[in-house]
Amino acid sequence: TRRVAAALAAHTPPRRLRVTLSHTAYDVVIGAGLIARAGALLAPVLPQKRVFIVTDATVARLHLPALLESLAATGIGAETVVVPPGEGSKRLAEFGRVTDAMLAAGVERRTAVIALGGGVVGDLAGYAAASVMRGLPFVQIPTTLLSQVDSSVGGKTGINTAYGKNLLGAFHQPRIVLADTGALATLPPRELSAGYAEIVKAGLIGDAALYRWCEQHGPAITGTAPGGADPDLQAEAVLRACAFKAAVVGDDEREEKPSDGRALLNLGHTFAHALEAECGYDGSLLHGEAVAIGLVLALRLSARLGFCDPGLAPRVAAHLESAGLPSSTGMLNRRFQAESLVAHMQRDKKMRDGRLAFVATRGIGAAFTDRAVPREAVMALLAEETG
Ligand code: NAD
Ligand code: MG
Repeated sequence: TRRVAAALAAHTPPRRLRVTLSHTAYDVVIGAGLIARAGALLAPVLPQKRVFIVTDATVARLHLPALLESLAATGIGAETVVVPPGEGSKRLAEFGRVTDAMLAAGVERRTAVIALGGGVVGDLAGYAAASVMRGLPFVQIPTTLLSQVDSSVGGKTGINTAYGKNLLGAFHQPRIVLADTGALATLPPRELSAGYAEIVKAGLIGDAALYRWCEQHGPAITGTAPGGADPDLQAEAVLRACAFKAAVVGDDEREEKPSDGRALLNLGHTFAHALEAECGYDGSLLHGEAVAIGLVLALRLSARLGFCDPGLAPRVAAHLESAGLPSSTGMLNRRFQAESLVAHMQRDKKMRDGRLAFVATRGIGAAFTDRAVPREAVMALLAEETG
């Protein structure tokens, strides 16, 4: 049935979502087989029949040949730089290697940069595109579920430094995003589930219908269902999550609103960042896995503060588990200390008067920013979680 579903999905016409910003607008095209049709899809938005592709070694092996073939068939010239897979490539040395490769290739102001890969490639290539000659046209071809539903929409690009993640960067909007859901077929199951956590997050923040739809279809999106993954449901999930993110981003392009804007996208992330920092970004805990645990902690905190029903956290935990995600630190192969987790949050958020800022919720789809969460409430929750 999986093969039949894939064949059917290949015949489902791609869906298009328009992202409208104050100075620009672009389409997110979603569907199976888009990489193989990239030449025709890109031709109308490319200023020049020439592109420079940035990808990582894993994605290059799996998906670069189809992209090169389709560009060549449309008469679009392409050069490529390949970076090592993984978060380690989001650093200044690799950024320098990528921008040097572009300049060595003689890119011009009208040469578009294509990011073919996950969020690492998208952030690195996007920042290179924003910087070389003060800005080259940029195209995103996200190949992980996380990058299709989250990082490819919104225009944030950047790299990490020794002082922290994403501290060098720029806003640089793409001309178009091609989310080829067919590429998800080669993604490791853990990466698929990790990306799914950000879809659940979107529903919990502000789209109750999306969350309920997730409860119905989650395992068929992550492939943990008995029948495996359903490509058509995956495409619908990408569309719904992108539509949500596009609406939030359209309302607060540069994260300038102190509350209710892009800041809401951080639901569960204060906890997640602390867990990731404790694990030392060694790859043992994927961002989406940390987000899954962080979502449940944010719901438990919200219940503790009297904002939402205490039944919500266990309900969401059960759903995340059904989609192949951890829902508590007890499911990980390591122990955490409440004190060190809170210490990370204080450093992260610059606690004021013993109070921390969190995205909390009044229920499914009703998140808000609470800037005055008492440190003790967070401490008590984490003591219970890690105890
Ligand atoms: P990633 O780019 O490292 O990809 C995960 C792994 O999957 C890599 O090993 C990659 O080689 C492999 N891979 C990618 N596509 C594949 C495919 N189709 N088949 C098989 N393997 C494939 O990680 P990610 O989770 O996509 O992105 C994480 C990054 O995104 C982080 O650096 C994070 O900071 C960033 N991010 C950015 C934003 C933003 O708004 N710019 C938002 C969220 C996350
Ligand atoms: Mg995230």
